[in-house]
Amino acid sequence: MDSNNNKIEKVVELLRSSKHTVVFTGAGVSVESGIPPFRGAGGLWERYDPEEVASIYGFKRNPKAFWEFAKELLVKTKAEPNKAHYAIAELEKMGIVKAVITQNIDMLHQKAGSSRVLELHGSMEYVDCLDCHTAYKWEEIEKKIEKEIPRCESCGSYYLKPRVVFFGEALPSDVLSEAMDEARKCDVFMVVGSSLVVYPAAHLPFIAKENEAKLIIINYDPTDRDEMFDVVIHGKAGDILLKIVEKLKHV
Ligand code: NAD
Ligand code: ZN
Repeated sequence: MDSNNNKIEKVVELLRSSKHTVVFTGAGVSVESGIPPFRGAGGLWERYDPEEVASIYGFKRNPKAFWEFAKELLVKTKAEPNKAHYAIAELEKMGIVKAVITQNIDMLHQKAGSSRVLELHGSMEYVDCLDCHTAYKWEEIEKKIEKEIPRCESCGSYYLKPRVVFFGEALPSDVLSEAMDEARKCDVFMVVGSSLVVYPAAHLPFIAKENEAKLIIINYDPTDRDEMFDVVIHGKAGDILLKIVEKLKHV
């Protein structure tokens, strides 16, 4: 696609002169790792009811439904970082990217080598028993979930809640304020793989724009917010980011 090539050149120029780029990612960055997104083609909302499986009310009614969903989202896929995660980590090593703000809970940015990752919606790293407050590492739960719905070893409760932000819960205020600071400070704000409909996360590009950052979006489908961006690339994040990194390295 010629027009994408021109846009990729423009992104390369912006990144080359940037002193502080912030990358903001959503479910789309992990699609090439085999984790389905919520919205868009093949999205989980075609098959699951978000109110049932991803809201705090649904979880309190029926934690087992959440764990069935989590199994499909995170365990069966055995996801590893993809080209997009690695390219973003590489941009940090090159001194261009100063922070990754992610809505994802899959920890794949850290696994790919990004060191400054702000997880707006928490992550699966720890799972707490809501009844007796025992904390588990995700790896322990992951092993059990293959065979059965996990329950607390200390008290038998099914109310095992990962430290992720469910619909209906507030975002961690310290992480959100750090992310807002990054959006204010950056000169380039690059969105990768987000439909930009989940608030308050989707407010961050507006903060960056108010502070005169250049805005880039790399997303498979158009979003309702495309108009506010300086460069809009529709395509697969892995292929596009890899091209960008290669061009930055070889000039
Ligand atoms: P979303 O599901 O609303 O949208 C995903 C977007 O990614 C779509 O617009 C789609 O066009 C795009 N996309 C799909 N494949 C792509 C690819 N290969 N390259 C680039 N773009 C691609 O995602 P969202 O905006 O992050 O909001 C959903 C919420 O779901 C977030 O809050 C997040 O916490 C959560 N979520 C996380 C994961 C994960 O951790 N991997 C997975 C699903 C949902
Ligand atoms: Zn317990």
